[in-house]
Amino acid sequence: MSVVELMRPEIQALDPYAAAEQVEEAVRLNANESPDTSASNRFRRPLNRYPEVRPRRLQAQLAARFGCRPEQLLVTRGSSEAIDLIIRSFCRAGHDSMVTHSPTFSMYGHYAEIQGADLIEVQTTGEQDFAIDVDALVDACRPETRLVFICSPNNPTGNLLPVPELERLLTARDQTSAVVVDEAYIEFASVPSVISLLDRHPNLLVLRTLSKALGCAGARCGAVIGPESVIRLLDAVQAPYALATPVVECVEEALQDEQLKRAHVMVGKIVDERERVASELANFGFVRKIWSSHANFLLVEVADADRVMRSCAEHNVLLRHFGGTLADCIRISIGSAAENDRLLGALNTISEVALG
Ligand SMILES: *Cc1c(COP(=O)(O)O)cnc(C)c1O
Repeated sequence: MSVVELMRPEIQALDPYAAAEQVEEAVRLNANESPDTSASNRFRRPLNRYPEVRPRRLQAQLAARFGCRPEQLLVTRGSSEAIDLIIRSFCRAGHDSMVTHSPTFSMYGHYAEIQGADLIEVQTTGEQDFAIDVDALVDACRPETRLVFICSPNNPTGNLLPVPELERLLTARDQTSAVVVDEAYIEFASVPSVISLLDRHPNLLVLRTLSKALGCAGARCGAVIGPESVIRLLDAVQAPYALATPVVECVEEALQDEQLKRAHVMVGKIVDERERVASELANFGFVRKIWSSHANFLLVEVADADRVMRSCAEHNVLLRHFGGTLADCIRISIGSAAENDRLLGALNTISEVALG
């Protein structure tokens, strides 16, 4: 069975939206646009015109960057939109399910809930460094499981799923699920992307984003990469004209060599800072555990998470605290050296006595 056949029957039958033809030099009286270009002169493409239904140049640029064919890639409004598109396209409401490991990125559960897809979570533990157990994931799959979500490097724990383990999962679910690998943080890891596995594993989908390493969170741009047949249907589901002209132009700019070099240097600095902050944090008595991270954040277990959150907030330093199994943990994004020093300064004011 092809992975496309795992998608909802209505989606398999869906025709792409038929947009008005766009011809640069023509008299364009076919899309009810304004002839007034006065709001548009900040951009290379006039803002009175609809953007391209899909940004073809940007798609080609991203495909070249990620090492796939343009037909294997759909540009999305952040990878968040890709998560939503995939779940809506694969899971029949009230019927199908998806499997993921926990703790992980809460957006998978959020969009599963919106779609009415059942979310099956396989727990991982801090004692085992949140290692993802592929056999447990496979065992958790039911006949209606259409998707398995893997976040690698994982948010908020920072660990990776080793490639041989991922391949075992892809093979085990070969005919039965698409396996979505979210690589939001892959640029901060010491391993390459799994996009190169696409040709060997037709049930693999990969998510990439420009929000983290490329420093474009405000532009809302990401991509889903997978088999052409699946990408074509996800394209049919995505809103026409999804990527706005200012976003497309700004991201095209961010993908120029000069900007990419800058981003690459920044990633190196963040990785260095991550290791410096980790070794500084180890000196605080109230820090119980620091997990090694392949991302641009650290997950840290502390003696009194509320107290640490409050003290940092008093010094205008914001951190992230989750509940549940991570109630004793705090996720710290790695900032600039100066910002990280602010964090360490704030932590210095916490009295060890008060924390008992
Ligand atoms: C930040 C993040 C994303 C990126 O979301 P965008 O919508 O692209 O900004 C995706 N997945 C994970 C796990 C993340 O942490």
